[in-house]
Amino acid sequence: MSNQERTTMRLLDDESRKTTFKEVALGYNHEEALQEASRCLNCKNPNCVTGCPVGVNIPQFISLLKEDKIDEAYLEIIKNNGFPGICGRVCPQERQCEGKCIRGIKGESVAIGRLERFTFDNKTIENCVINNKKLNINVGVVGSGPAGLAFASTALDNGIDVTIYEALHEVGGVLRYGIPEFRLPKDILDKEIKGLINKGCKIITNCVIGKSITLEELKDMHDYIFIATGAGLPRFMNIPGENLNGVLSSNEYLTRVNLMKGYKKLDTPVKYAKKCIVVGGGNVAMDAARCAKRMGSDVTIVYRRDLDSMPARLEEIHHAMEEGIIFNTLTNPFEIIGDELGNVKKIKCNKMKLGEPDESGRRGFKVIEGEVLEFDCDMVIMALGNFPNPILSNSTNLIKFTDRGLIEVDERNLTSCDKIYAGGDIATGAATVIKAFGAGKNALLDILRKINSKK
Ligand code: FAD
Ligand code: SF4
Repeated sequence: MSNQERTTMRLLDDESRKTTFKEVALGYNHEEALQEASRCLNCKNPNCVTGCPVGVNIPQFISLLKEDKIDEAYLEIIKNNGFPGICGRVCPQERQCEGKCIRGIKGESVAIGRLERFTFDNKTIENCVINNKKLNINVGVVGSGPAGLAFASTALDNGIDVTIYEALHEVGGVLRYGIPEFRLPKDILDKEIKGLINKGCKIITNCVIGKSITLEELKDMHDYIFIATGAGLPRFMNIPGENLNGVLSSNEYLTRVNLMKGYKKLDTPVKYAKKCIVVGGGNVAMDAARCAKRMGSDVTIVYRRDLDSMPARLEEIHHAMEEGIIFNTLTNPFEIIGDELGNVKKIKCNKMKLGEPDESGRRGFKVIEGEVLEFDCDMVIMALGNFPNPILSNSTNLIKFTDRGLIEVDERNLTSCDKIYAGGDIATGAATVIKAFGAGKNALLDILRKINSKK
């Protein structure tokens, strides 16, 4: 096995990145993509496919790329994943397909995500195969994040009429309001959504199910419902000082910056801080920190475990470091101090050490008594994960919710009501884009089974 190294991807230079929201990872050009594709061994029993949550036939699409058949490679991917432009950019491939690639055992895995992205960015055909074999079934989708989009896309491909109901004024869920432009340019998302609209998808924005229309009313309007409302309610630490001016949830900050384009100084005000502390170690924390950097702040991330335990994508951690963000790991806030006007001015943290692993193998953490760190700051962003929003659970008795406010579903993504399915973060808790895509598709396949068995 030749151990030719992974083809490097070009990046926007470190300096301009600190001030621009332009995409950081520039992707492969034609020559680089073919070179990287040539590293794939086309394994008979491809481990990479077992690592892909939606089962894309990875060696097949890569062999089409090797033959320079980009459109054909795209058609191969969308058999299983309708949104390669998004997944190629945001999926944690190092823990999925690439983490299982045989090339990774002795060297570097094939850059599957980058090849997927290249395929989408360079295809010349649109994903708008219109299915004229209508099934005379209509479904309502609550929420337009990845779970809702995948469900809708698979439904339309199978001749089912779809209406999406979205609470916000724009479509895409976290892909729109959470993940910043420098990781996922919004024109990529727009292209994927345009494909859905071309296939006949109806989208109703500014419509909160549970307020504007009840779930009971929606059930009477459609043959089946798929709920994909995500987990959009921010979590806080419940420490003194969290209600001071300048302490924000990552949701609020990212929404102001990304969805409302706060950085363009439009109508939505956004805080320009000198020194910003971001609390957390996931993708959300990296996104908030990198946005704050671009908004002109000196940014420090504080995280209670060590660097290796951070749940964020490796690539995002590296990019954050390259952009000059300081990482203070094994550090956990216990109090935020304000000035006489109620504005945040300092955060106090305990120094931590790692504890014993739990049943999942993840190591716990303990306070090192007497070791306290203080950081001056004028903004603190809490990026600690999210709970599901309770609007739906407070307004319906049609379906069952868990104690954590998640919708109870079985392996088919079916709720306790036989016409209502649910998936994505509202059923699993905060997870990943590809898992949400997978849930949407899984639910739709069960509906198709039901329709076929009735026939
Ligand atoms: P969401 O994307 O949350 O979409 C839910 C949609 O439902 C929203 O548009 C919301 O407005 C709408 N809605 C809510 N309630 C109602 C209602 N009552 N009526 C109508 N509409 C409603 N995952 C990765 O794989 N890679 C990453 O790099 C990554 N980065 C992330 C960065 C951030 C900042 C965040 C917050 C998450 C990130 N994730 C990442 C996680 C990933 O985005 C989520 O797991 C995924 O978006 C969940 O999809 P979803 O469709 O379940 O929900
Ligand atoms: Fe190619 Fe790696 Fe998949 Fe083998 S495991 S088919 S080398 S991508």
